[in-house]
Amino acid sequence: MPRLIGILGGTFDPIHYGHLRPALEVWQGLGLDEIRLIPLRDPPHRGRPRVDAEQRLHMVRLAVADQAGFVVDDRELRREGLSYTLDTLRSLRAEMRDEVHFCILLGSDALLGFPDWHEPDEVLRLAHMIVMHRPGERVSGVPSLQTLLRQHQTRDPSRLRNKAAGAILFHPVTQLEISATAIRAMLASGESPRFLLPDPVLTYMQQQGLYN
Ligand code: ATP
Repeated sequence: MPRLIGILGGTFDPIHYGHLRPALEVWQGLGLDEIRLIPLRDPPHRGRPRVDAEQRLHMVRLAVADQAGFVVDDRELRREGLSYTLDTLRSLRAEMRDEVHFCILLGSDALLGFPDWHEPDEVLRLAHMIVMHRPGERVSGVPSLQTLLRQHQTRDPSRLRNKAAGAILFHPVTQLEISATAIRAMLASGESPRFLLPDPVLTYMQQQGLYN
C-alpha cells in the first residue's frame, strides 16, 4: 500500500494553532502516514516574511517537537531563489524509495490562488490536494479554479491511496479564526497572543524579541 504524506507549506511567521489543529485533523481523519511541515523561504505570491528563516524554522520545530507523525523539512530554506511547490515535490519524489503519494494541505484562502501557481496542472500530476476550510473563505467565483475543481474534485477519500495524484478533496476541520497577521499585530501593540499558538513558540518569540 502506498504511504500518504501530507505537505503543509507556509511562511509560519509565526506558526499557530490555525496551522496545527487542522493539520492534525487531516492526519487523523484521513489516516495519513505523515505530515511534513515545510517553511517557505521566499514565497512567490506575497511579501517577504518578517522574521528570518532560521527563526521561523526553529518555531516550527518547537511547535511539533512531541507530535508523532509530524516532520519538519527545511529543504525550501536551503534552496536559493523563489520557492515553487513543483520543485519541492520533485525533490521529495527523488529521495523517496518506497511508494508514496503526496497530498498538499492548503487552507481555502490559499486554494483561491492555486490557479496562479507555477504550473498548477503539473503540480496536480505529482500530488493530490486536501483543502482545509478557513473561516470567511468562499471558493466559488474564481472561474479558473472552478475549471480545475470540475476536473479534479472528489468526495471519496480512498482516491488518495488508489490514485497516485490529481484528486482535490475538501476536508472539514475545526474552524479557527487565527492568522499569523493577527498574532503579529497583537505583539506589535503589546497584547498577548497566548493560547493562539503553543507556549514554547511564544516563549521563544519573547526571548528573541520577535514582532515587537
Ligand atoms: P499570514 O497571516 O502571515 O498570511 P497565515 O496565518 O495565513 O499567515 P501561512 O503560513 O501563510 O499562515 O499559511 C500556511 C498554510 O496554512 C496556508 O495553506 C493557509 O491557508 C493555512 N492556514 C493558515 N491559517 C489557517 C487557519 N486558521 N485555518 C486553516 N488553514 C490555515
